[in-house]
Parts: sequence; C-alpha cells; structure tokens
Amino acid sequence: DKEYVGFATLPNQVHRKSVKKGFDFTLMVAGESGLGKSTLVNSLFLTDLYKDRRLLNAEERITQTVEITKHTVDIEEKGVKLKLTIVDTPGFGDAVNNTECWKPVADYIDQQFEQYFRDESGLNRKNIQDNRVHCCLYFISPFGHGLRPLDVEFMKALHEKVNIVPVLAKADTLTPMEVRRKKIKIREEIEQYGIKIYQFPDCDSDEDEDFKQQDQELKDSIPFAVIGSNTVVEAKGKRVRGRLYPWGIVEVENQSHCDFIKLRNMLVRTHMQDLKDVTRETHYENYRAHCIQSMTR
Ligand code: GDP
Ligand code: MG
Repeated sequence: DKEYVGFATLPNQVHRKSVKKGFDFTLMVAGESGLGKSTLVNSLFLTDLYKDRRLLNAEERITQTVEITKHTVDIEEKGVKLKLTIVDTPGFGDAVNNTECWKPVADYIDQQFEQYFRDESGLNRKNIQDNRVHCCLYFISPFGHGLRPLDVEFMKALHEKVNIVPVLAKADTLTPMEVRRKKIKIREEIEQYGIKIYQFPDCDSDEDEDFKQQDQELKDSIPFAVIGSNTVVEAKGKRVRGRLYPWGIVEVENQSHCDFIKLRNMLVRTHMQDLKDVTRETHYENYRAHCIQSMTR
C-alpha cells in the first residue's frame, strides 16, 4: 500500500488552471547543527532526498550539511504534480565564532529574490523559474531553556524575508509535560522579542466550529514538536517510521507522540498556497520596494 503525503488537495487551494502546470514549493530548514533538520525533511516528504550519497544505510547517508544545498524532487499523487525544492542549510554552532552565522542564509534568500526580480523585468517573463523560498522551518533545541540569544538573532535577521515556522526539535527527548511548558515559554519569548513568525490567516467568521477549533489547535501547536527518523520499525505488527529505544518505539506519524502530521498537513494540505501568497505579496514586495528605492536614489 502506497503512503500519501497529501498534496493532492492542492487543487482545492487554488484555481484549476494551475493544476495542469503542476505546483512548486520551496522549503528551507535552518537552526543549530545536529537538531535533525536533514532527517526531518527526508521524513516529511517520504522521499530520500539524499539518495545520491551512496553510503551503507539511511542513518549514515545523511552526513553533516556543510554548505547550503538544494535538492529538487518531482512527486506526483493522484495526478497532481508537485516540484518540491528543499534548501538545507549548514547548522550553526560548530564554528568557534557564530557572529552573523545567519548571513549566508539571509543572502541566499535575497539572491533568489534578486534573480526573480531580474527575470521579471526581462523579456521571457512567462517562463520564470521561481526559486523564492516560501517557508523556513527554524529548529529550536529541546535542551535549552526556551530560545537562545542566537535563535533570537537568527530569526530576527530572516523574519522580514521569509515565512518562519518554528519547530521544537527532537521532541522524543522530552516528556509531554516538558513539551507543553517549552511551547508556552517559546511562544512568550517570540512575542517578547518581537519575532515575526508566519501567522496562520484568521478564519472567516462564517467558517464552521470544527474548522475554527482546528485552526486554534494549529495556533496552539507552535512551535511544532517534531521527531524525525529515516528508519522503519515494527510497532504493533505495523511497519512505521520511528525511533527504536530499549523501552519502546517512538512513532513519527503518531499524533500522540509528536506534531509531525500536524506540521505536514499544514505545509502540504492546508497552507501551502497561503505561504506562497505571503512570500509574493509581503516578503518579495518588500525586497522589490527596497530595490526600486535604491535604484532611484
Ligand atoms: P542536522 O545537522 O540538523 O541536519 O541533523 P541530522 O538530520 O543530520 O541529525 C543529527 C543526528 O540526530 C542523527 O544522528 C539523527 O539520527 C538524529 N536525529 C534526527 N532527528 C531526531 C529526532 O527527532 N530525535 C532524536 N532523538 N534524534 C534525531
Ligand atoms: Mg543537516
């Protein structure tokens, strides 16, 4: 039986016209080294993004990310095509000096805007390759007391350029109570430091109660507590993606174990189009306005 990521609902999010052409989406991951960024994106889209690195097993195949890398995969579900690009960034924290460690990442995002801006003003405007980054999953360590100064600095350096979705990494290392407390603390700190993360659009007043409740649940999930794994284990007779411990199994796709499914549904089933709209209407427009301003000065 085939597993589904769920982007076949994309046609409901946009006009039918774009269905034939296919969809594209660019997701970036950022945060401290070793928090499971590469592992998570691999689990998210059920594809082995790093398969070209021939090594013995999946765990080893994901080697340390030392530079910004881009992987593109074409996936198709129920006749709907999605061209997915993952931008993996080197985790910071390894260097002795982490000053401005966000700079290469910020520059990368700007370069994609710059390219788009140039193409848009060129002759072949119809067939522009859109490499703009639509969302950045920012990984927060489960071992700290909330946000660290570097997290604050990093997110603030990016928040005018990209939709930031914070995630609490390696949630299997925390108890459910610790996860709840940390989420509240991190949400408070995001507010306190004036970090502008991606805001889920408010639902219309005429939406039904079910929908409103789902929407509130989503807002209360921030930062999504995630667990990544590239190994398939056996749990209660079923083969699932998970982590095997002496005391039991943590299942990535089990909603009572973590928010992995919630995050994936948000990215793929419900908010992909909004993430793209905000990128175009807010982040790219900001960039464009700055450009035009500096040209006319
Ligand atoms: P990155 O540097 O952020 O890209 O981290 P990697 O994806 O390379 O993972 C670093 C290590 O953490 C690897 O040994 C992974 O197997 C492990 N790891 C990844 N995700 C998780 C998780 O959710 N929980 C735990 N406990 N370990 C994880
Ligand atoms: Mg990595």
